[in-house]
Formats: sequence, structure tokens, C-alpha cells
Amino acid sequence: MEKNLYITTAIPYVNGKPHIGNALDYLLADIWARYQRQNGREVRFQVGTDEHGNKIAAKAAEAGIDPQTYTDQMYPNFQALMQKVGAGYTDFIRTTDGHHKGAVQYIWQQLKPHIYKGTYQGWYCMGHEAFFTDKEVEETAGTCPDHQTPYQQLSEDNYFLKTSDFSVRIREAIESGEMKIVPEFRKKEFLNLIKDGLPDVSISRPRKSLTWGVSVPDDPNQVMYVWVDALSNYLTVLGYPDKPEWQQFWPADVQVVGKDILRFHAGIWPAMLLGLGVALPKTLLVHGFVTVGGGAKMSKSVGNVVDPNEVIDQYGLDAFRYYFSRHIPTQDDGDFTWEKFETAYNTELANDLGNLVARVANMLIKYQAGVVGDVPLGEHDMRNYHAAFERLEFNKAIDDVWLMVRSLNKYIDDVKPWEIAKRKDSDPDAEPHLSEVLGHCVGNLLQIADLLVPFMPATSGVIHTTFESGVVASAPNILFPKMQQHTGKPTEVPAK
Ligand SMILES: [Zn+2]
Repeated sequence: MEKNLYITTAIPYVNGKPHIGNALDYLLADIWARYQRQNGREVRFQVGTDEHGNKIAAKAAEAGIDPQTYTDQMYPNFQALMQKVGAGYTDFIRTTDGHHKGAVQYIWQQLKPHIYKGTYQGWYCMGHEAFFTDKEVEETAGTCPDHQTPYQQLSEDNYFLKTSDFSVRIREAIESGEMKIVPEFRKKEFLNLIKDGLPDVSISRPRKSLTWGVSVPDDPNQVMYVWVDALSNYLTVLGYPDKPEWQQFWPADVQVVGKDILRFHAGIWPAMLLGLGVALPKTLLVHGFVTVGGGAKMSKSVGNVVDPNEVIDQYGLDAFRYYFSRHIPTQDDGDFTWEKFETAYNTELANDLGNLVARVANMLIKYQAGVVGDVPLGEHDMRNYHAAFERLEFNKAIDDVWLMVRSLNKYIDDVKPWEIAKRKDSDPDAEPHLSEVLGHCVGNLLQIADLLVPFMPATSGVIHTTFESGVVASAPNILFPKMQQHTGKPTEVPAK
């Protein structure tokens, strides 16, 4: 029997506001999940939140509440964003869930042959709650660029995972494609990063320096650091180890990760799985960052942060899903500006697609009393579309849909159904010809709607309902009415 499908997204840390990078994770996973479901597959789709660590404890203390109460208040922000981007997830995991914590302790015990106690000394950033290498510290002149604070020398007792035990095996798995890293240039980057082997990784901290986390089994003085706790979520959410159904979904078919966390997912995580004797994920899909205006990094201090909620509230969910699936390449960085977004909205959504749907519906009403007539199947060759999904290049798949949208518009411009309609009284062939032309348009529109299911489910639904009943009773509401908030004439300043 074919294994059921499983796709995962990274679990964000709940201390901040959800951002566009999180939205991109959920969107990409959702596009894949909808595509697979449309093709008859059962898909588990995991999302969740990472809820332990010092930053959480500090924020809770600031608010005068305990960390659990704090995370209870924070995690719905992330859930709200997942729902807002239309992510049809099946499982939501919180690392403070009881089952997860128990499973993580079990995992630690299974990994014991690869765990040793040692002293960790190194450069530490409080903001990151992480140690940095000498090289990284040197490159940034001793100050963390993200937190603007100097790194500190810190030394403490830690447990270490002997990741180095698995260096050869992980390299082989990546090179052979047993665990694919997509795109290829990220795979090369990672293989280069580990050319001297994987460094062992600290997986616990003394309780005095990490209060909020899962206890290390059999050592009350140590608390698990993020890795074993957070990375395990991809397995524990399926019920690992005690509920056998986890085996119907694992190994994950696709794990969606941002480029900044690839090394943890391609290094530490497979080492844990190999230590557990559990199969490696089949593919790590690495997406890039969304930059603003020609490659600038989004930053709160610069004030150029794009809030996905704002895009969706102003232009609608499908417009958001459209831009971020097509104009942000699935496997690389992509750029957003309000002008670019609005131009894509007005030209590609309003003109190309919205206008096409309206044109065909209105011609049916005007020339055939709304009766659709015979509809041949759409004729678009779908091999490029499916191949793009196979390669996890969703932007290429939706590009292909737009080729079809544009060629159908061109067909209408060339055939000029309105001229055929003028000949109805004088030419007996005109009426059947017109009906054939409009049937062709509807068939292709329905095919476009099918291909848009993973990307723009609501728009796809409108096209289906408009044409599938056989009679178009009234012109559909305009899809994507034109907007000029960021392009066109500047808003006039009212006179004082
Ligand atoms: Zn930092």
C-alpha cells in the first residue's frame, strides 16, 4: 500500500508576532497539500508553535504571568495567521503539549548511546539564546547584528549529541537523494558547510540558565535545549512513539524550511532520526526570504515590515496567495513592494483573469441567454504544470496556468465572438459556430479553475459555480476589482 502523505512546516517561537516568513511556510505547504488532495491522496499537514526557552520565560516575567499562561495567550496569534492564509492543516502541535513532552523524554532516552556530558565554552548571544563560532563572531566584529549586543564568553556543563557519529551517513543520504535538499544550490551549500563533518551539538543547559523547558530524564539539574524538544515535533505530532499510526505518515514527504534553518534540519534532525532508527524525511524544501524593494531585508527598525494580514485585508486572500506563490519564487528569495503587488493585482488578476471570466459570462448571457451548451474538455497540455509540482517549483506551475489565461484571452481577441454574433441573421453557420467558440472558452476556463485549486481555492470555486450548472443566470461579481492604493494618481490632500 502506498504510504499516506505528510508535509511539515517549521514551528515558530511564540514570543513575537507572526511574520511574512511564517505565512510563506504555511502557504507553500498548503499549496502542496491541496494539490495532492485534489489528486486523491490523503495528506497530513502539520503546523505548530515552539514554546520553551529563556525568551519565553523572560516575556512571561515581564507580563507578570507564568510561562505556560503566556504561551497560552500567544499561540493563537500564529493559529490565526495559518487560518488567515487559508492553510488547511490537519495537526497543530504545541511543544508544551503533554504528549509531546513525554515523547521527547522517550526520544532522549533512545538517543543516550549518542549523548555525552561535556563542558561547553563559547561565544553566546543572549538574544539568540545560542552560541556562535569564532568565525561568526569575527565576521560580525563581536556584536550580534540581529540584537546589537556583544557576544559573551560562557562556559557551562551541557549534554551533547554526538552528531559527528552520523556525518558520513547524512552526507551519503543527501548525495544519493535518500534525503533530497531542494533546490540544488542549497544542497551544495549545506554539503560544503559539513565538508569537515558535523560538529557535535549541545542539547541541554543547566537548570539555572534555562528554567522553562523539558527536563532531561535522570538528571534534574539539566533542561533540554531547543533542538531535541523542537525538532522532535515533526514525529511526536503523528503520535510517535506510542500511537502506531505515525508509521502510516512518516517519513515526511516534504519538510518546508526557511534557508536560515536548513542546517538544523539537514544536520541535527537527521542525526536524531538515525539515532532513533527512524527513516529520514524524503525532501527538505528550502525557501528564501521575502525582501522589500530590490532586496532590502525587512526590519522593524527600518519600518519596512510587510504584514501579511494587511495584504489580505486590503486585497483579499486569493490575491495574497497569488502574489506570494507566483512572484516569490518557491525556492529562492523574492521581492515585495506595494507597487509591484498592486501592479500584479491589476494587470494579472483584474485584467487577465477577472476580465476573462466576466467576458465569457457576459457573452453567454448576451448571445445565448446564459446557456452554456456543449463544453469540450480544456486542451491545455498539463505536463509542465505537473512537472513543476514534482520539482516543488510552485511558481512555475502557476506561471503555466497564466500562459493558459493569456492564450484564452488572445483566442477571444482573435476569434471576435461579437462579430460572429452580428452574422447570426444572415449566416446559418454563425449560431453553431458561436456556441462552439463559447463552449471552448468555458472548457478552458474550467480547466484553469482546476489548475488554480491549490493556489486560489476561492477563485477556482467561483469559476466552477459560474459555469458548471450549464446556465449562467447573471454576470458573476467582478473578480479582483481594480485597486489604486499604491499605483496611479497620488491621493489628493484635502484643503485646509
Ligand atoms: Zn543575537
